Amino acid sequence: MFPSVMLHRHKTEAIRRFHPWVFSGAVKRADKGLQAGDVVEIFSDDGAYLGTGHYGTGSVAVRVFSFVRVNDLQQLWIDKLRSAYQLRKSVGLTDSAFTNTYRLVFGEGDGLPGMIIDWYNGTAVLQAHSVGMHRQAAAFAEALKVVYGNQLKAVYDKSSDALSKAEGTNAVAGEYLFGNPETDVVNENGHAFKIDWIGGQKTGFFIDQRDNRQLLSVYSKGKKVLNTFCYSGGFSVYALKAGAELVHSVDSSAKAIELTNQNIALNALNENKHQSFTADVFDFLRDCTEGYDIVVLDPPAFAKHQSARHTAIKAYKRLNLAALNKMKAGSLLFTFSCSQVVNSEMFTGAVASAAIESGRKISILHQLSQPADHPVSIYNREAQYLKGLVLYVE
Ligand code: SAH
Repeated sequence: MFPSVMLHRHKTEAIRRFHPWVFSGAVKRADKGLQAGDVVEIFSDDGAYLGTGHYGTGSVAVRVFSFVRVNDLQQLWIDKLRSAYQLRKSVGLTDSAFTNTYRLVFGEGDGLPGMIIDWYNGTAVLQAHSVGMHRQAAAFAEALKVVYGNQLKAVYDKSSDALSKAEGTNAVAGEYLFGNPETDVVNENGHAFKIDWIGGQKTGFFIDQRDNRQLLSVYSKGKKVLNTFCYSGGFSVYALKAGAELVHSVDSSAKAIELTNQNIALNALNENKHQSFTADVFDFLRDCTEGYDIVVLDPPAFAKHQSARHTAIKAYKRLNLAALNKMKAGSLLFTFSCSQVVNSEMFTGAVASAAIESGRKISILHQLSQPADHPVSIYNREAQYLKGLVLYVE
């Protein structure tokens, strides 16, 4: 039996339509003594069961992970992981040596709000964004063993940063919940990447750019490419492997540049064609004199909350203008935003206003998004966070 939360009569519509968040304003009454992270059952005030989820003390009062009654939490996690796995299998991600890294669980998109699990060639890296999910970390490690059997070599909990930021809790240390990794090298579309899930950013790798990197390789042969905000060099490796004449990688983090250089070496690419720069992208763009055929702009989320949205939109405009001002006639700009609170229209608007100010003739060739292993529930489209445009600049 779980404690309960009752909603106001006229506030049950969203949950009946499978929206996974119950906002605090919808709660009429909650059992006494509830703490953030407790599992609760949600009812309407006429006693109808509506869902089960994790209680939270912020603006989201419950993150719902089931719309049918739950008797056995462990079995629920196993069932959820199995269906998440099935989705990845159906798009060809689970049985290929060509690509052996993918996102297994994408929070709400897989009916598990607050939980991210990435698969790195035998190691599952889990990142909980809520106290409730973090309490279940060991249970998820057990569920992963059931789903993957002996394919699973290790489970690492990388909840540290995400959790303290999301819920104001004390930072938790990263730790192995199971096993020992057999390797830290993965393949993505046949390209090798070394993943540092312990010291790296997020869960170690930006899996969400897989399809967009592949698109870059289509255009890279014989080209001079600038990859800004390169992190571990994903776009750089694809461009070089596809025959780029020259690739410059830029990141302000020395650690990121080290990872990039390692990944260039790992793919046995011609190091004379690659150069990396530990620099701020705005400074680099201001000072650069090289004429690039392709520029990639993939900054970190400029806005993490609604309150920062306006400043973020201005930053996207400033960044895109800085790049457009340097672009050759006939060049391509791959420009991205991963800020969830800046939607696709706002992002395109920011880029359009940079285009107007640059005075260049610009066409949109591609409108990009996140790959299939970052699914978006049709009832919760806020989870569509990655936006990209490929522009032709005349
Ligand atoms: N394109 C990458 C992911 C980018 S993540 C990939 O495909 O893997 C964003 C990166 O931007 C981080 O590595 C961070 O260190 C870097 N960064 C953040 N602010 C920066 C700035 N002002 N100048 C240069 N790099 C910056």
